[in-house]
Amino acid sequence: MAVIWEPRKRLPFCYMALMIDIDNVSFEYVMRDKDGEVDGFYRAVNEVSLQVKQGDFIVILGSNGSGKSTLAKHLNCLLYPTEGTVTVDGMDTADSDKLWDIRRSVGMVFQNPENQMIGTIVEEDVAFAPENLGVKTKEIEERVKESLIMVEMEDHRKASPSKLSGGQKQRVAIAGVLAMHPKCIVLDEPTAMLDPEGRTEVIRAIRALNDVENITVILITHYMEEAIYADRIFVMNEGRLVMQGTPREVFSQVEKLEEYNLTVPVATRLSYELKRSGLNIPSGILDKKELCEAICRS
Ligand code: ADP
Ligand code: MG
Repeated sequence: MAVIWEPRKRLPFCYMALMIDIDNVSFEYVMRDKDGEVDGFYRAVNEVSLQVKQGDFIVILGSNGSGKSTLAKHLNCLLYPTEGTVTVDGMDTADSDKLWDIRRSVGMVFQNPENQMIGTIVEEDVAFAPENLGVKTKEIEERVKESLIMVEMEDHRKASPSKLSGGQKQRVAIAGVLAMHPKCIVLDEPTAMLDPEGRTEVIRAIRALNDVENITVILITHYMEEAIYADRIFVMNEGRLVMQGTPREVFSQVEKLEEYNLTVPVATRLSYELKRSGLNIPSGILDKKELCEAICRS
């Protein structure tokens, strides 16, 4: 039924519309003993192939240690594949001449906003990356302004980052990436350290970037409720890509997800239990509204 283990599609015609092409990538960390001698290798990513089209919103799910961060770090040349190739916006990450073009195309946002703050006021912080790229002062001002507007932080442009809430800090970090005018933004558990309000703010900002600005978004998250907005979900387990499909396709496989130590959104779980106890409702329900409608129809 659901689209699991899809054979890899080769789409030469649409190649230009591809933002990310991860082709049979494996990555091994080199393990060293206390004297610095090579002690072995640890394969954190194992034969992963996946493609992301320009303008897609994709979510990567997987339990701790499944290789999500390792894979994400390949997308802007923080790591290089041990085997296979990673192509970003038509550029092979192994091509060292393309390093800065790739880093301009793909911005990264990490879990802890504290570690991503550099400036003493918000607008300095956002200006940091374009300054380093050598963008002209006038244009930097414009980019800072537009980036802060996109994440709804323009009213705080003169604030000290230390005075902001977690959700606000993370939105400033996102603005800092936006000021580079990336085509794609990769967010590695950006809401993990935030309270529910901060999570909502950050997810709203990320969705707007995708909807309004058509920026390709790759979101790694532990929160299933954040995954329901994705065009496509990829599930990793022990370094391998084990499931992929639309949120409805993936979340209708409750038992399979449990095997990978993953839960499903609350409404999906409830509908699954109701269905098991005999209620005639469809599988893969994603939110409260759909659940209420399905119960009313049953
Ligand atoms: P995830 O982001 O899904 O939690 P990671 O990509 O961080 O997973 O890690 C995948 C595996 O690689 C884990 O088993 C982790 O312990 C291991 N790992 C991560 N970073 C390193 C490193 N620098 N050296 C050795 N092993 C690592
Ligand atoms: Mg991680």
